[in-house]
Amino acid sequence: MRYSELCKVYEELGATTKRLEKIAILSEFLKKVRENDKEVLYLLLGNLYPSYDPREIGISTQTVIKALAKAAGISDEKIVSEWKKIGDLGQVAELLITKKKQSGLFHGELTTEKIISDLRELAKMQGKGTVGKKIDLIAGLLSNSKPVEAKYLVRILLADLRIGVQDSTLRDSIADTFFPDNKKIASEKVQHAYDLNPDIALIFEKARHGLKELDKVSLKPGSPIKAMLAQKVDSIEEGFEVVGKPAVFEYKYDGFRLMINKDEKGNISLFTRRLDNVTNQFPDVVSFIREFVNAKSFMIDSEAVGYDPKTKKYLPFQSVSQRIKRKYDIDKTAKDFPVELNVFDLLMLDGESYIGRPFIERTKALRKIIKNKEYKLVCAKQLITDSEKEAKLFFNKALKDNQEGLMVKNLNAVYKPGSRVGYMLKLKPEHRDLDLVIVGAEYGTGKRAGWLSSFILACKSDKHGGGEFLEVGRVGTGIKEKLDIGVSFLELTNLLKPLITKSSGKEVKVKPKIIVSVIFQEIQKSPTYNSGYALRFPRVTALRMDKPLNEINSLKDIEREYGEQK
Ligand code: ATP
Repeated sequence: MRYSELCKVYEELGATTKRLEKIAILSEFLKKVRENDKEVLYLLLGNLYPSYDPREIGISTQTVIKALAKAAGISDEKIVSEWKKIGDLGQVAELLITKKKQSGLFHGELTTEKIISDLRELAKMQGKGTVGKKIDLIAGLLSNSKPVEAKYLVRILLADLRIGVQDSTLRDSIADTFFPDNKKIASEKVQHAYDLNPDIALIFEKARHGLKELDKVSLKPGSPIKAMLAQKVDSIEEGFEVVGKPAVFEYKYDGFRLMINKDEKGNISLFTRRLDNVTNQFPDVVSFIREFVNAKSFMIDSEAVGYDPKTKKYLPFQSVSQRIKRKYDIDKTAKDFPVELNVFDLLMLDGESYIGRPFIERTKALRKIIKNKEYKLVCAKQLITDSEKEAKLFFNKALKDNQEGLMVKNLNAVYKPGSRVGYMLKLKPEHRDLDLVIVGAEYGTGKRAGWLSSFILACKSDKHGGGEFLEVGRVGTGIKEKLDIGVSFLELTNLLKPLITKSSGKEVKVKPKIIVSVIFQEIQKSPTYNSGYALRFPRVTALRMDKPLNEINSLKDIEREYGEQK
């Protein structure tokens, strides 16, 4: 397919904020996508592979600036100064390539296959001495681009397409394209198939061949699925009301979610709830799975919890979360920050899918294949009861054991991947916390000079598929000056600097990517922030590198918290 056709659609999508219009534009476009072009669906989401694939383009803004300078034949400084004026390097590329084209340069016709294969090549170039090659490759593509093509090439490289398309938009568009008379049912089927196998190009192809083909999409150990999420309840009584009596209560472990896969050939893979493949980061967990799970192939849902190797005391999430992103010193980190795996659900066993079976059956089957070994791999502590008194005692025990509270589960419910349904509830002691994304920051002074030290937090808006963010306050507390257990200023500064999109004086705006958990005292109405609310005395408690952006708290959650406090 011609890359210019894709860029035309990018332009149309970027020109409207209305979700239905976006779906109409996408459906028209998808009708023209042939089977051998199906990978353009990745490009529509700004990716080169299914979103769970760990391979990223991984290009720094600096490299893009240098490539642009080379292609346009001007200095890096000039590009930086244009970028400061315009605020989007993609638009800078468009402008500069326009000027260059006016001076009469020939360009060939780029195809989407060429873009995908070159960018995949680029992603493979790693290590010292590859920077020059990367610059040459990008400059080559830019020189062959029309202005608008250059704009989107730069935006793809910087993982910032700015067209407001979420995977949910694309899923609805697929339903619209192939099943215009049956959109509602088709949309649910597309969603379900995608939850089981989140490869958008594969789902697109299945949909082309009919609803029956979508129904055939099934779990496959090694390709991750979206985890089922929990609704919040405020008391044991409310828990019973939602899931009925008796109910299953389990410790809510304060760690991070790991989806464990073992395929028929014995390959083990681990995925976070963002569907990041973290197998390499957890060799210890891989060996526990080999030793303590007695089955040929399976998919198991679990929570990995950190503990102090000396005192054996369980530690909060933040103390081990750094292991998720770790790329070096893996064995040492595993020793210094050991985790215990607490398994709690079974989705597939020896080739058979379990997700359609009642929870009670899944948990029984799971418990049969697990050999419990404390501090390595154990089944989640569980109580099945219809007694409020017993459940309360169990809740207190969980808190005494340094865990977050309880999960309350419906005995008869199926597993619904990717959904926050009332089959599984979370119950925590009364304290208010929210997961929010950082959208801006300010450089500190004095001891904190050189660090970003105050951070603007935002929730997701409930409109446009959650792709917009609304500010709810500023936070500077809870962050450490020393590199210690916990979140430090240095760490946040290093994470945020590459995401800066605009700076004026000490203030910067950043791409919404870094998520933090905060606790706070109160929510107030406030004209200062565009959400209309402000958090009073917020404090950062954890960095949530495990959580996807579309699962942060929304304006509705803030409104609900505000309502509840009154
Ligand atoms: P929170 O921020 O409140 O921890 P969350 O946004 O991380 O919640 P939720 O889905 O809302 O995630 O809460 C459920 C999470 O609790 C699960 O994603 C899982 O990681 C964790 N968890 C711990 N113990 C269990 C358990 N026994 N069963 C299911 N989930 C558990």
